[in-house]
Amino acid sequence: MHVIESVRQMQQWADGQRAAARRIGFVPTMGYLHRGHLSLIELARSRTDCVVVSIFVNPLQFGANEDFDRYPRDLDGDRRKLESAGVDVLFLPRTEELYPPGFQTAVEVERVTRGLCGASRPTHFRGVTTVVAKLFLAVKPHVAVFGAKDFQQLVTVRQMVRDLNFDIEILSGPIVREADGLAMSSRNAYLSPAERVAARAIFQALSEARAAFASGERNADRLRELVVSRLSSVPLARIDYVELVDAETLEPVRRIARPGVLAVAAFLGSTRLIDNCLLDPAEETGSATEGVADEDSQQLPTEGSV
Ligand code: AMP
Repeated sequence: MHVIESVRQMQQWADGQRAAARRIGFVPTMGYLHRGHLSLIELARSRTDCVVVSIFVNPLQFGANEDFDRYPRDLDGDRRKLESAGVDVLFLPRTEELYPPGFQTAVEVERVTRGLCGASRPTHFRGVTTVVAKLFLAVKPHVAVFGAKDFQQLVTVRQMVRDLNFDIEILSGPIVREADGLAMSSRNAYLSPAERVAARAIFQALSEARAAFASGERNADRLRELVVSRLSSVPLARIDYVELVDAETLEPVRRIARPGVLAVAAFLGSTRLIDNCLLDPAEETGSATEGVADEDSQQLPTEGSV
């Protein structure tokens, strides 16, 4: 595995691959890798000839009082995981190069970033799209893979790619979960043992709503209420939002007539976790799950590539 730290070298490597007609797959991450990340790498590998993974904890997407300084890092462990996953290039850009003194350009996607996480993290998606655009210009991928766990991020990146005519195919991978259903996240490392147990309630709440949906419930308020009441019964959990939105526009919906996403953000102590599930009225009730990444990772019945 090559480790590349400069944008110029990354671009040269990408030019070489493109000249040899090799398709480049790209998975951007903030490191502290888990099986969720590895499942995206597998997906990229299955669709392309070579895979680049970036690790960059992007200061631009963290708010002033957020966890940038203490975001978990384990570069040695990450390198080993990426080597065994057969990754071709680990791209480790330096903050000073991506944001040199005098840097003053940003990419902002407007409507789809306003609600959900954008409401409580107003500068977050501007930071995400700015860095993803820069990473795309460095890595020059044919295909880039994002996780459905960060659903609003996925929709935002797709919108940016459409609006700015990036010649890149965006793929999404399903949410990979721990054995008890908790969506894998680097931030799960922050949880105390008691918070870790309480965090299960997020998946349980979504599963209850999903079951009601499968039995025919289409009223968004009632589905939301199931999640709210389940989470409210957990003393260690504090809801940031529970929303049912259209899967494409991310506008709130009252009744589910088209694919919707039930999205949750909740604090367990000071740790903010997000999760979601797709509710698709066209899907056959109880149909098989898509994209189970590992035997012991539970999936909600409807989530998958979006
Ligand atoms: P992060 O390192 O948290 O910025 O995540 C990098 C990529 O991995 C993003 O596209 C995330 O959506 C994706 N990802 C994070 N957690 C999971 C998970 N549990 N299952 C699938 N994808 C994930």
